[in-house]
Amino acid sequence: MQRRKFISSGSQLGALLLIAPHLISCKGKSSAEVKEDLIKNESIFKSGGDFTITNVAGNVWTFEERGGTIGFYVTEDTVVVIDTQFPDQSGHLLAEIATQTSSKVDLLVNTHHHGDHTSGNIAYKDLLGMHIAHENSLKNQKRVAEEREQKDVLYPTTTFATDQKYSKGDLKMSFNYFGAAHTDGDIVSFFENDNVAHMGDLVFNRRFPYIDKSAGANIANWVQVLDKTVKTYGTDTKYIFGHSANGYPVRGNSEDLNAMKNYLERLLEFGMASIKSGISLNEAKASTTVIPGAEEWQGKGIERSLDAVYQELS
Ligand SMILES: [Zn+2]
Repeated sequence: MQRRKFISSGSQLGALLLIAPHLISCKGKSSAEVKEDLIKNESIFKSGGDFTITNVAGNVWTFEERGGTIGFYVTEDTVVVIDTQFPDQSGHLLAEIATQTSSKVDLLVNTHHHGDHTSGNIAYKDLLGMHIAHENSLKNQKRVAEEREQKDVLYPTTTFATDQKYSKGDLKMSFNYFGAAHTDGDIVSFFENDNVAHMGDLVFNRRFPYIDKSAGANIANWVQVLDKTVKTYGTDTKYIFGHSANGYPVRGNSEDLNAMKNYLERLLEFGMASIKSGISLNEAKASTTVIPGAEEWQGKGIERSLDAVYQELS
């Protein structure tokens, strides 16, 4: 099996050509043009099994298999992983990373507590430098693990309330908490050098979101959180999303954040109008397949949005 390279280095181009020869025709093109093509095409490649690793920018990649999108950063001497899906999935990712670098995992981040983002934490048990999350995320992780009598859990060891910085060598990261949204503990993780922000489940790209009222979710505040995110990071930043609808990527830009914001605003409007008209929650569920003004949002699970908006507004 050919080795795939994540690491940006002097040999990056050759390595990337090994990654995605089937996607990119490089005949007659200069190195710079090929590199540009690779970036444009996001140098997607499949590896043996069921997962997909995709370059976002620089040394930042996404890993998709089962659960919320993992973002990760790899160089010769630094490894950062954001979210962990499930133990098998984290095992797959760690095996891939091990073929690229002998560095241990310096930093693990949990964007929030949900099991499809944290169940794989345990795979990092003996590997870890630092493990960071919002303070409410830690509380939620512990509460859910107790409720479900889960064993084999690995909790964050560093928590924060509003913001946090991390740096190692060339890597500079910042973490922001802008308030309750999808839960009461969702953070934005920002790779300053590569200008990439991991949104966790603050963005469900064109897919009906889970709005976890049992963990302090707040739709109106979620709108504000997305607003603050775009104001903080700007329009040139590339974003990673926890989930997407079929046919939509888990990577995007500030327009996608604005579209998510629009979904939530239209949901609030729709909920308000329905409640004012005396429509019951069950009636609304029976008669609603899309939220007016946000028809791009599709798939299963609109009832979860309706449950949440009725609860928030009633
Ligand atoms: Zn979630």
